[in-house]
Amino acid sequence: MVKRHILIGLTFCMAGGGLSASDRTQKTPSSFTAGKAFGALGFAGAAAYYVYSHPVVQWDTVGLGMLGTAAVSYLGYKLLNRQKEVEKRLIAEKPGREPVLPAYQQKIMSALFSSAIGDALGRVTEFIKSPEAQFERYPGGLTSFDKFHPGDWQGIPREFRQKRIAPYTDDTAMALLVAQVLIDSQRNNWDRDSTMGHMAEAFIKDLDNADYGWAAGYRAPGNACLAAAHVLQGKKAAEKSRARWWDVKALSAGGCGSVMRAFPFGLVFSEDPQKAKLWAVEHSKITHGAPSALAACAAMALGTAEALRGEKDPRSIVNLMIEAAKEYDTVTAQKMSKALSYASQAQDILGRTSVREAFLTKEFFDFHKKVFNEFQGWSGQDAIAATVYVFALFPKDIDSALYVSVHTPGDSDSIAAMSGALIGAYSGIMPDNKMVQSIEGASYMREIAQRISDIR
Ligand SMILES: [Mg+2]
Repeated sequence: MVKRHILIGLTFCMAGGGLSASDRTQKTPSSFTAGKAFGALGFAGAAAYYVYSHPVVQWDTVGLGMLGTAAVSYLGYKLLNRQKEVEKRLIAEKPGREPVLPAYQQKIMSALFSSAIGDALGRVTEFIKSPEAQFERYPGGLTSFDKFHPGDWQGIPREFRQKRIAPYTDDTAMALLVAQVLIDSQRNNWDRDSTMGHMAEAFIKDLDNADYGWAAGYRAPGNACLAAAHVLQGKKAAEKSRARWWDVKALSAGGCGSVMRAFPFGLVFSEDPQKAKLWAVEHSKITHGAPSALAACAAMALGTAEALRGEKDPRSIVNLMIEAAKEYDTVTAQKMSKALSYASQAQDILGRTSVREAFLTKEFFDFHKKVFNEFQGWSGQDAIAATVYVFALFPKDIDSALYVSVHTPGDSDSIAAMSGALIGAYSGIMPDNKMVQSIEGASYMREIAQRISDIR
């Protein structure tokens, strides 16, 4: 009699364990099926055995079985839940949104994709003048290309529109040209001046690419870049033999048009952050010669190299960026220091609140507007200050960083592109997979990441 009770109880236990397993692992189809089958088998076995041997219900047996079922269900729940927590932590530490690559290559890829995706989101918020109006147009915020309005898909090449591929803007288009020239430079051992010559040529050549080039209308290219490229076009024919023909002496050009494309220096020269800094400064002179633009480029390139190296904490990296900027322009360095202290204040306001919830509070929303009204990002020095703010606030949280950067009153695409690059290089975390799949140039960016990784 006792043996029979135990047997029946155990069968119920199997059923309970099986159901428990199926309940906790619904996200993996094979475990789900196995759990359900296990549970169903247990129940069928219990019922068959019971009917066969007990024409009259014995409540003590049923009670024992139910107790066993409850106990095993609870244990199964605990065990599988713990497993799930471990998995969740692993995903957070080593983002599981992409196949695992060597850490270095993963970080380069994350820098490229985070930057391009931020740029593509910012393309549609850049010309909406206030965060209030942006949230009104995109309830809950612009967090995905799926939230684009039909009008946001107008004016871009038909191929993108039809396939719902989100285009990036001049920031990413030029950054990819810079990256490609730097890769060629490393492979061919070009010196600094000759590399800058090739870069100027790449900018000019891409002007002819009316549909997909950096100067295409829907990319909203910057005026200083356009003006310089046209000057260079004339110069190239007449004076290409002259040394440093690519330096247009645009001493009054201090917009963000050169710093927005400076991060690839940090990716390619991560072994030598000083070289990244010096070469990025030279490259600025192709279009932007103002000291503030040089300072911003110095900071961005050096910061990206340090972020990629991953030896220092975010605050130390920002301090090195500020030092680098100071060599060229003290006002830029001061703005960056101020941005760093704003990040600490924002951290205090945020506490443990998520950024999306925080945006619903007046205190954080007002603070956000204050910071980004001060650092609108149209100038190089304000763009690098805004980038420092976002990086110091969310060094490992690309989703929050893009959320903050995209909903800004000024040059949202450049702020998001630059923050994305720095945070990607530091964290190696990829943005939302759906956007990774539908950003323009995805396979080309993977190739670039591979090539930079190969020449390291
Ligand atoms: Mg742009």
